[in-house]
Amino acid sequence: MTGPTNRPPRRSALLRATTVVGAAVPLCLAGWLGWQAVSHDSPAGATAAAGTAAASATPGAAPPSTPATTAPAPSTPAATTPAAPATPGDTPPAATTPAAGTTLTGRTILLDPGHNPGNTAHTAEINRQVDIGNARKECDTTGTDTNSGYTEADYSLDVSRRARAILTARGATVVFTQDGDRPWGPCIDERAKAAADAHADVALSVHGDGGPAGGSGFHVILPAKVVAGKADNSAIVEPSRRLGLLLREQFRAATGEPYADYTASDGLDTRSDLGGLNLSTVPKVFIECGNMRNSADAKRMTDPQWRQKAAQGIADALTAFLTARS
Ligand code: ZN
Repeated sequence: MTGPTNRPPRRSALLRATTVVGAAVPLCLAGWLGWQAVSHDSPAGATAAAGTAAASATPGAAPPSTPATTAPAPSTPAATTPAAPATPGDTPPAATTPAAGTTLTGRTILLDPGHNPGNTAHTAEINRQVDIGNARKECDTTGTDTNSGYTEADYSLDVSRRARAILTARGATVVFTQDGDRPWGPCIDERAKAAADAHADVALSVHGDGGPAGGSGFHVILPAKVVAGKADNSAIVEPSRRLGLLLREQFRAATGEPYADYTASDGLDTRSDLGGLNLSTVPKVFIECGNMRNSADAKRMTDPQWRQKAAQGIADALTAFLTARS
């Protein structure tokens, strides 16, 4: 249900980081119809026990930006380098340098930019069914887009790259499931496996939703406990919930975006139909940063400055989660 046409130019091969595999199909599968179908089919009743998130790492304390050259060299083949902006003029303050630039040294974060800009040209490949433990599901989906044709795949990749720049500057090793460097996918089961393969401490999947045009706001998707077939995510349910609460808090603080008013409950949903969560063995959540089918959300999500705020919220939540655990 995606109709992207005019996409920003790709980054040069030099700037294109290496990658890995990783995550799943969220709510934003394919626009409104996708939303309808998924919502109605989803066994996932909202489980929104609100909670007070644990201490946040650096709320509102965005460190000064530094030149893009400050990123540490990748320490592993899977490590990625901070990305340059995909669109001319939308210069992300490449990397932030927290008071302690080594806050996250030794920690590995798996970021999963939802979908893939190339999926629309590879429907046969992404429609292949894969095992997610309690069901079989499409390998991947195209994602949604705004009325003006800005795709969810491009949005997710841009925000993920911005978050990577921030986290890398804090010392983390950041691994991507895809970095716009493969023609399609990866499949949702591979996206889940990527976190384990990278020995990641935590994983997060970035998406934009394709809900009803009248609805707006963001929400975080938490894993329901799934022990079925090859899935057993029981060990990650609780820590993922902690991550989700931090993400809800930090994302809202950074962007001012309200909780979704058309789905979830108080910005939280719990689902058992997402391969990226069912099959994950490390703490993981999804964020639907906004509803791309809503004009107000679409306007924000199309704005590079807003995307930088979104990335900041995501990076701060991951930092808070990791520092609270250490
Ligand atoms: Zn999506």
